[in-house]
Amino acid sequence: MAAAEFALIDWIRREAGRTTAPAVRVGIGDDAAVLDWPGDRACVVTTDMLMEGVDFTAETATPELIGRKSLAVNLSDIAAMGGRPVAAFVSICLTQGRGEEFARRLYGGLFELACEFHVAIAGGDTNSWGGPLVINITVLGEPVAGAPLLRSGAQPGDWICVTGRLGGSLAGRHLTFTPRVAEVAAILETVRPTAMIDISDGLGADLHHLLEASGVGARVEGPRIPLSPEIGLMPADKSPLDRALSDGEDFELLFTVEPSAGELLLANWSHGTPLTRIGEITGGLGAVLVMEDGRETVLEAKGWAHPL
Ligand code: ADP
Ligand code: MG
Repeated sequence: MAAAEFALIDWIRREAGRTTAPAVRVGIGDDAAVLDWPGDRACVVTTDMLMEGVDFTAETATPELIGRKSLAVNLSDIAAMGGRPVAAFVSICLTQGRGEEFARRLYGGLFELACEFHVAIAGGDTNSWGGPLVINITVLGEPVAGAPLLRSGAQPGDWICVTGRLGGSLAGRHLTFTPRVAEVAAILETVRPTAMIDISDGLGADLHHLLEASGVGARVEGPRIPLSPEIGLMPADKSPLDRALSDGEDFELLFTVEPSAGELLLANWSHGTPLTRIGEITGGLGAVLVMEDGRETVLEAKGWAHPL
């Protein structure tokens, strides 16, 4: 992928091949790592760093929402592995002079989400400096029965499905979204997806991450992509479909499932969060977007990447 962030991560992944440990079942390259745990168990580990001015601003987000989002993005990655979160470690770099109350309110939002998802805040680190707020959280979890689910198992013919609705999250949902922990547990009660990723960069970009990891291609039906009503609150410089493909920060689950399992899953789905089939995996490489009139275009890996 062209984006510098992903090229750097790819380089780190290759170089990190020299740093092996037998207990690391899945290392760099998925939504979380998977480590062997004594007693035939596994531990799912993810970490994410959020920065003021990039992931939130103090003008548009309350301290509580900043704390909430910082944990929620990590819970989304645990969910994308088919995991259940267990414990979180929170490192904060506060802005000197902003006061203790700001930090307490940030933790207020964080604790509320932690209680909702039964995650223990089990440690962290507290620092301050003259720069903007930076917060890094590491979450440990355990795979739900049938998991972990990797990005790499998609097979030609599989259905491509997505939870929720996409696009326009910057209008507010990027701060308030519900990580799909309950949804992945409900999916795993019925079927075992062949591959899964959470949509953090945008459907276009994250679908390509899944396709590259699996060595397959995709046909996505544009009219089937579920559009979030929040798209209507965003500037009209991008089409609704383009927003659903590239806005990012949806934190929905994108997954593949064998057709018979997909039929079973959709027929039995009673969870409040929508579940939609948006296309299918193909044997070729790359992704094609099919429009209502049958016109086909290349579905690009458009989405968010940190510039370097
Ligand atoms: P996500 O969007 O799911 O959080 P990322 O794109 O941030 O995933 O990361 C993809 C993979 O690369 C993950 O396995 C992550 O742990 C790893 N990764 C990202 N940055 C680094 C880094 N600086 N050093 C080592 N691994 C990294
Ligand atoms: Mg992810």
